[in-house]
Amino acid sequence: MSIVIRGALTLEGERVDIVIEEGTIAEIRPAEAGKGSAPVGRGAVASEEVPSLTSAEHPRPLSAGRGEVVVIDAAGMLAIPSLVNAHAHSAMTLLRGTAEDLELDDWLRMAVWPREALLDAEDIYWGTRLAAIEMIKSGTTLCQDMYLDPGAQARAAQDSGMRFVVSYPIVDAMDEPRGARQRSSCEAFFDASPDFGALVSFNLGAHSIYATSEASLRWLGSFARERSLGLHIHLAETEAERRSCIAERGLSPAAYLDSIGFLGPKLFAAHALWLDEGDFDLLARHGVSLVHNPVSNMKLASGPAYDFEAARSRGIRTLLGTDGCASNNSLDLFSDMKIAALLQKQHYRDARRMGVAEIFDAATRAGHEAFGDGAGIMVEGRAADLLLVDLSKPGMLPTHDLQSSLVYAGGGAAVDTVICAGRILMRSGRIEGEEEVRIEATRRAQVLAERWKSIA
Ligand SMILES: [Zn+2]
Repeated sequence: MSIVIRGALTLEGERVDIVIEEGTIAEIRPAEAGKGSAPVGRGAVASEEVPSLTSAEHPRPLSAGRGEVVVIDAAGMLAIPSLVNAHAHSAMTLLRGTAEDLELDDWLRMAVWPREALLDAEDIYWGTRLAAIEMIKSGTTLCQDMYLDPGAQARAAQDSGMRFVVSYPIVDAMDEPRGARQRSSCEAFFDASPDFGALVSFNLGAHSIYATSEASLRWLGSFARERSLGLHIHLAETEAERRSCIAERGLSPAAYLDSIGFLGPKLFAAHALWLDEGDFDLLARHGVSLVHNPVSNMKLASGPAYDFEAARSRGIRTLLGTDGCASNNSLDLFSDMKIAALLQKQHYRDARRMGVAEIFDAATRAGHEAFGDGAGIMVEGRAADLLLVDLSKPGMLPTHDLQSSLVYAGGGAAVDTVICAGRILMRSGRIEGEEEVRIEATRRAQVLAERWKSIA
């Protein structure tokens, strides 16, 4: 299937036609005069004057067969790269609203882990499908996801049409027999060369230094090197984590991970709040990517603001994540962009911190680059993971500074069309099959609540 986007505005202020073929941006050219060139704010109603090359289902097919060309009239639309959610626990959508006003330790031990023990593979499948719907609606096309059942997550990921990096989790709670069982299941999983299509890949997840034993962390580090896999961990999320690590081992969490061979350029460390200058130097030396989760950090009162400047000045890549729905509780990454920027300015009392371009870059280009999907910038030859944002939405008007409106005002609600790897996942706010996902995920969440009530 080919796609021709006609008359979209770019962040550079140009009107362009974008031709997408076989998942790639084949051509970007100045918009043809008179076609798709309505003034900003008119809204993007498919124009009858634009001859649609798709004969069936005119004017707005969600999908087309092989060899067909879908023409999208993007008058009144802004074309931008899609967003990357670099740290989530997607199936926690089923737990949304069940663990409010608790700090991390109580949140995990009293509310989250006992509920998660009730989830089966189908719950995780439908919870992940619901998360994907929410992410697509708000412009995310790639998610790095750590949860309890990588097989169920990967099935859901494949059915969603989004890109997912599924982190196989080792959470042994310092129980060696349990750790040994999880490590051998993990090895068997990768030995079977899991294949869930071109858009779903896998890496290795360690929950944290307090929920994953040293034996498992060491094993993960060497298994990752042996199989050329990435790693994903929660790092230095709370002051308690840092204090107990120093008390027990005489090392900060980052230095401890370095001492057991866990740091490297394929590591994604989420949160990274309780770090000192030496920790930042260490993480920079190993090329670790950090994932900032501003909403989750604030909601769980996890600590000080993430020190974006300490990372930026050392060339450490900062990505953006929502974290799970029990600690955010939204998967709309646009709102995390806004809150991340506001938090830096407020905490450091410096309005110059984390400018619009920096936070937009963290959520788009940097994310795609870190996961190597070929998208993230709109130029010919790059992967076609794009959004069309409706410039008639009140938050996007007027159009003085489009990037600022995206970050601070327009938000995920203005996303009209989502294209991932050259496939249309959403058009005019509609996703194929979303109703079934909504109904089944809601039903499963209700069953879960009833089970919880009967044992709590
Ligand atoms: Zn998390």
